[in-house]
Parts: sequence; C-alpha cells; structure tokens
Amino acid sequence: MEIRSAREIWDAALGELQIQVSKSNYRTWLEKTVGLDYQNNQFVVSVPNTFIAEYLDRNQRSLIEKTLIHLTASTDIQLSFQVNGKYNNSSNGHNGHSANPAGLESLAPGSTQFNSNYNFDSFVVGNGNRLAHAAAQGVAMNPGRIYNPLYIYGGVGLGKTHLLQAIGHVAESRKIGVICLSAEQFTNEFVSAVRQKKVDDFHSKFRNAGMLLVDDIHFIGGKRQTEESFFHTFNSLHNANRQIVVTSDLPPKAIPLLDKRLRSRFEWGLVADIQPPDIVTRLSILQSKARLRGINIAGDVLEFIASHSQQNIRELEGLLNRVTAFAKLFNAPPNLDLARHAIVDIGSNEVSAGPTGPNLVIALVASSFNMLPEDISGDRRDKETSLARRFAMYLLRQEMGCSLAQIGALLGGREPSSITNACKKFNAELADNKSIKHKLAEIKKSLNPRSKIR
Ligand code: ADP
Ligand code: MG
Repeated sequence: MEIRSAREIWDAALGELQIQVSKSNYRTWLEKTVGLDYQNNQFVVSVPNTFIAEYLDRNQRSLIEKTLIHLTASTDIQLSFQVNGKYNNSSNGHNGHSANPAGLESLAPGSTQFNSNYNFDSFVVGNGNRLAHAAAQGVAMNPGRIYNPLYIYGGVGLGKTHLLQAIGHVAESRKIGVICLSAEQFTNEFVSAVRQKKVDDFHSKFRNAGMLLVDDIHFIGGKRQTEESFFHTFNSLHNANRQIVVTSDLPPKAIPLLDKRLRSRFEWGLVADIQPPDIVTRLSILQSKARLRGINIAGDVLEFIASHSQQNIRELEGLLNRVTAFAKLFNAPPNLDLARHAIVDIGSNEVSAGPTGPNLVIALVASSFNMLPEDISGDRRDKETSLARRFAMYLLRQEMGCSLAQIGALLGGREPSSITNACKKFNAELADNKSIKHKLAEIKKSLNPRSKIR
C-alpha cells in the first residue's frame, strides 16, 4: 500500500534532482514535470512534450530511478514518461510503436536518429529561410500531400539538417514510420547489403518507410548503383504518396554527376533554398539559443557576436558557446569586454590554428552540456555527466594532444586506463550516434569557430 501519492513522491524527487543536476538543466528538462501514477513499482511522470520525454528517457533515466528508489525505499522502480498519454518509454512501452509498419528498430523512440534540439520550436524563422521553413512545416503536417519531394538546399551550417530532423520529430510523434539518414549512410547500408547479398531486405526496409528523410543527398552523385537503388526507392515511395524530403548543399542541377532521372525527380516537388541569415535573424537566433540554454547575456553582447559571424549559424553558435565558456572559465559576467576578449582570441587562432588550452576545452564541453567545469572533473556518474566527460577526454586527447597523465590531472585525478576506456567507448559512440557526431562538430566549432567543419 502506498501512503504517499505519486505527486508527493515526485515533488520530493524533484527536490533531490534539483541538487543533483545543473540549474539550467533542471529548468529545461525537469521543472514542468508532474508525478502521475505509482503502482507496482511502475512510476509514471507526466512531461510537457515528446522532446523532454525523449531527453529524460535517454539521459536521466538512471539518475531519476535511483532517486525514486531511494525515496520510496523500494528495490526497483520502472520509470515511464507520458505526454498526453502518447509517449511510453522503450523499456516497457512496446505499444508505443505498434503502428510502425516496417517494424524497423531504427524507428523506436529513444533511438538516436534524431537530435532532440533540432525541432520546429527552436528554429528561428527569418528572410533567408522562410520558404524552406514553411515548406518543411507543410510536409510535416500533411505528409505526401503538398510537395513531394521537398528538396531543401543551402550553404553549410544554415539549418538544413535542423529542418529535416524537425520534420522527423513530428513524423515520429505521429508514428508514421519515418526513416531519417544521411545519403552517406544510405550508401553504406546499400553497399553492405550488396556484399551480404541482402539487397532485398534493404529495399523492403526503405520501400516500406512511411516517410524518408535523406540528408546531404549530393553525396550519391556519380555513385551509379546507389543512385539506381535510390531511384527505385524514390519511385515506389512516391507512388504510394509517402513523403520524401532531401537536403543538399546544391540545387539539383548543380550536383556533379547526378543521374538525370533523379535530377528530374528532385525537381518534381518543391525546391526551396536557404540563404545566409541577415543581422536581425542572427540576433534572434542568438537570443533564442541563449534562452533555451538558460544563459543570461546582455543585448549588446549578442549584437557584438551577431556582427562577428555572418555566413553560418553553426559558427554563430560556436561564438556564443565560446563567450559563455570564457565567462565560466574566468568566473566573470559575459559582458562586452569579455566577449571581445573571447572573440579576439580567435583572431590569433586563425594564425596558429590551435585552441587555447585544456581548461577552455573543458569549459566548452561543460557549457555545451549546460554544466559547470567542476561537474566534468568531479565525481558525478550519471549518464549525462559521464558522456560530457568522455567528450572532454576525447577532445583533450585528439585536439590538444594531452597525455593520459595530463588528462587525469585535469579531470580530478582519473586513472590512465579509465581514460583510455572512455576514449574507446567514445569512438564507438561517435561511429553510430549521429547526435554525438553533431555535438562534437559543434564543440569543435566553438573551439575553433573559424575553421571549416562539415
Ligand atoms: P546544415 O545542415 O545546413 O549544415 P545545421 O542544420 O546542422 O546546418 O545547422 C547548424 C546549426 O545551426 C545547428 O545547431 C542548428 O540548430 C542551428 N541553426 C540553423 N538554422 C537555425 C535557425 N533558423 N534557428 C535556430 N538554429 C538554427
Ligand atoms: Mg547538415
């Protein structure tokens, strides 16, 4: 018999979690959650949206379960999250994805095909991306009915992947059976299917998709067999009115060596371009990023940052991260002086092409996880902190060339063997987790904001 209600237990848990995670982390992910139900070791938490459910499921599950076990003095707790009854966690909620037509494991919520930050809510609309954004929303809401395919193109770092994933989030929450991957992954899967004589499986996987999202489609240009396979996949999905969205750095006509038949297919629907953001858009993007991450930073500082980065939103984010990391590092407010200091340093980076010290690396990683550098060097072992620590170790080793002993000393006296293991694990994660790859690119970008990262 439970004496306390789920709500009371959860409120107590929130009290404990508030101490264990960073302030902005708490505010972003936990603050608006409510204890819904607690029976037979099953604890259900209500969350405001799928993104929060996914985030908590992926990153904070063990910490929350541990906290609940402690509070309820039980031996085991199974946690699940509910968004208007729509979301169930992957460990007990198979009903959550029964509508998945192909039964593909890559479609399960909690899978790594989407970056939870890339959604429509966090996408800032401006003159350069208005059409692409409207078209993306259109196909997300009415898949297969308005523009098919939707072809989005534009320069590096302008939000193509962000929009593609935003469409994917909506489709996933509607259980459409979406497959989202890069053209490179498509190619690799195709090549390995050929090698293993499993081309039929490959084709049926893609031809049964409810929606197909392919990033950086220019990659397949000139790869004849992959193009052929994609062409047939395209046709069968299109015939079945399944939505197809592709992105590219270039318009269809300009992709070198692209099969003519594919080019004409790409032009069947809507071709929408994204142009570099104007200063007004850059500023509102910065405001939104700062707000989302709970960073308090004055308008003149944001203007200064916006005026220093013109072409590329990834670079813009890199500069913002860098300024906040500097503030944490020097324990100073992120004012104009500090921003100048942080950004002028980059000038010298352009010449030396090297970042500015291991502590900056740690501060940048911490800042991109909304943590403090102390969290990374400290003892916390929850999933998220451990992941952030692996990012730091990897970057210290790869980018800074630190020795194992140096890294150990920087990170609170860790053993060389545990650093080697962490780096190994990180390499594996990097190979099969898209959002980790993205995050690493972003952190590297703030380390060296002017270098080209694709
Ligand atoms: P691309 O795929 O075009 O190279 P991305 O989609 O990876 O670019 O975007 C680079 C970074 O810029 C991402 O962190 C993304 O969230 C951010 N970004 C791009 N456009 C916007 C926008 N309009 N509003 C908010 N963030 C954006
Ligand atoms: Mg991209």
